[in-house]
Amino acid sequence: MAFWPSIVVATPAHSGVGAALTYRSELSLAPGVLVRVPLGSREVLGVVWDCPSERPEGLTEAQTRAVAGVLDGLPPLNDRWRQLVKFSAQYYQRSLGEVALAALPPQLRELDSVQLARRLKKRAKAAAAEPATTGELSGHDLSPEQADALQALATTSAPVLLFGATGSGKTEVYLRATQSVLETATPGGTNGPESPTQVLVMVPEINLTPQLEARFRERFEPAFGAGSVVCLHSGMTPAQRLSSWLAAHTGAARIVLGTRMAIFASLPGLRLIVVDEEHDPSYKSQEGARYSARDLAVYRAKIESEALAPARCQVVLGSATPSLESWHAADQGRYVRLTMPGRIGGGSLPRLRLVDMNHQPKGAVLAPPLLAAMAERIERGEQCLVLLNRRGYAPVLACHDCGWKSGCPHCSAYRVFHKLDRTLRCHHCGFTERVPRACPDCGNLDIAPVGRGTEQVEEHLAALLVDVKRPDGSPARVARMDADSTRLKGSLEVQLAALHSGEVDVLVGTQMIAKGHDFRRITLVAGINADSALFASDYRAPERLFALLMQAAGRAGRDAAQSGASEMWVQTWYPQHPLFATLKKHDYPAFAAGQLTEREQAGMPPYGFQALLRADARTQQAAQAFLNSAAGQAAGLPHRDEITLYPAVPLTIQRVANVERAQMLVESASRAALQRFLAAWQPVLHACRSDPQARGLVRWAVDVDPMTI
Ligand code: ADP
Ligand code: ZN
Ligand code: ZN
Repeated sequence: MAFWPSIVVATPAHSGVGAALTYRSELSLAPGVLVRVPLGSREVLGVVWDCPSERPEGLTEAQTRAVAGVLDGLPPLNDRWRQLVKFSAQYYQRSLGEVALAALPPQLRELDSVQLARRLKKRAKAAAAEPATTGELSGHDLSPEQADALQALATTSAPVLLFGATGSGKTEVYLRATQSVLETATPGGTNGPESPTQVLVMVPEINLTPQLEARFRERFEPAFGAGSVVCLHSGMTPAQRLSSWLAAHTGAARIVLGTRMAIFASLPGLRLIVVDEEHDPSYKSQEGARYSARDLAVYRAKIESEALAPARCQVVLGSATPSLESWHAADQGRYVRLTMPGRIGGGSLPRLRLVDMNHQPKGAVLAPPLLAAMAERIERGEQCLVLLNRRGYAPVLACHDCGWKSGCPHCSAYRVFHKLDRTLRCHHCGFTERVPRACPDCGNLDIAPVGRGTEQVEEHLAALLVDVKRPDGSPARVARMDADSTRLKGSLEVQLAALHSGEVDVLVGTQMIAKGHDFRRITLVAGINADSALFASDYRAPERLFALLMQAAGRAGRDAAQSGASEMWVQTWYPQHPLFATLKKHDYPAFAAGQLTEREQAGMPPYGFQALLRADARTQQAAQAFLNSAAGQAAGLPHRDEITLYPAVPLTIQRVANVERAQMLVESASRAALQRFLAAWQPVLHACRSDPQARGLVRWAVDVDPMTI
């Protein structure tokens, strides 16, 4: 007897190969089983999707190849996982094979069943060696707000939006919710107890918040074992990723902490998904399948719950500045909004102080009153954060004689001047050269930086604060934290530790300093260059700026004793801008309401639905020709009359690494219509590739629910 399993393998997104390939097998293979199969001249990893005993019509035995091997040490990937993958592929317009295989750890692709068996044995041995302690779970006494939130969590099955101020103790809520899930011994549900209960906790960038990982380990490892908490993120080695993945898949890990990729982890006992800082743009993938891990979290919880009823899988989205999409869903009652407005210990949020740059000395990088306030804090032994979203010394180097600027030869962008290693670096393609001694065009020796980045502000501040003393009489210390200073492994932890220990008085940095850190002695936070976002063409820019400033402000005054005097300073040329009025009151609901009204009037998300068709080509003409041809041939497709196709336009940074980039916005008032149209458009897009006008096309992609347009 033979079986004809359809097997999903990694097919390139644009290969046009259908969902799954049919193979031959002597054995009946359960859906979700991992196999090795021949593909062309290689042998690849595949996932069994279906296994009929009848040969599909129109396929001869000679046309099929046999399954080469089964990874039989592993339980199959369950139905819910496969449903998640299938939904993601459909929704984000990619091939099933691409999404399914990208969701598995890369190293799994290289292992045969013997090697895998060895890995599993090693894991089992290590797990057995860990002493099974029965540690006590500890934790804070809950604040009334935390207790209310947990009470509400326990009684709702809808997605929860936990709207909690910075410092309101959201993490403790996640910890308690996790604890109650883990203590539920039997998973229950119609599928029976197949695995111990599990929790997925997602964070935007795990490296930036080592504290969160530490808190989960500290809380749960004593009771559930050293292997009970694992991480999953792209900074791990392939071996570490495989190890965490196996732990999650086999149920050995009870808690997975991860970045957006963790949404695809196989978690047979999943009962709770936490998405911390749910508004963070890094939950949206910008390559391959451009999925939103936050949106998939909501979907995943729904399918898990449907399969597990009466047991359920809960999803909690937490933020002090939720995305407008989630906020709107809560307004509509699709999500349950739980609010924790107060800070732990009763401290207040920092007071906003706007510095009108129109009234400051010409050319001042830091306004004198801000400097004076910083000096005062340092003298009191308090700390300051200075936020500037631009790394390097200066964004441009220029010659004032002939007008030369440090453009990148490969991109339509300037190369950034990095003074420390005297380089000009392109932040888009990476092209780096030593700073020229003289102007390359006219030989003028006097080439100068224009604008400023974190390196320069650090240098400036060190000079300006040189006479300022700390309470012990020692000089003030300024440090910098950005992608450059934290490139080396472990350096971020060292820099954070220097701040926590009080070694550093002023930390200058990019948005990474604003993330979830629980600093205790910061009483002043300054945003010194926020204006560009006020007038950006991107309609999400205000939302992002508001979130960033609230987040940054949230680093200050976390110690209630000092919170009364804590301040958030913002330097701006536009102090009358309405965004600042709501920021001043820490009034996110008012800000969100205002933004949502504007969005509704303009038919923008979450009231309208968008996708981008993007094209990269050797010439801008070819990129646009592809888009135009795709638009032309969309005529007559289903739901075309409900879709608006905008003209093809170059991207803001039109050329990167010698590739020209263009895009076309696709919009509809109906998500379903947009989805159906995009699905019908796919074959057209594949065909347009070979349009003679589009010669030189390098790649194209569809981005559903894009973050920037
Ligand atoms: P958020 O994530 O909402 O910004 P955190 O979870 O970081 O806030 O909590 C802020 C601080 O308050 C942390 O240092 C945390 O340990 C502490 N904390 C949280 N809940 C309590 C509580 N119930 N009692 C005392 N301290 C708490
Ligand atoms: Zn010159
Ligand atoms: Zn470049």
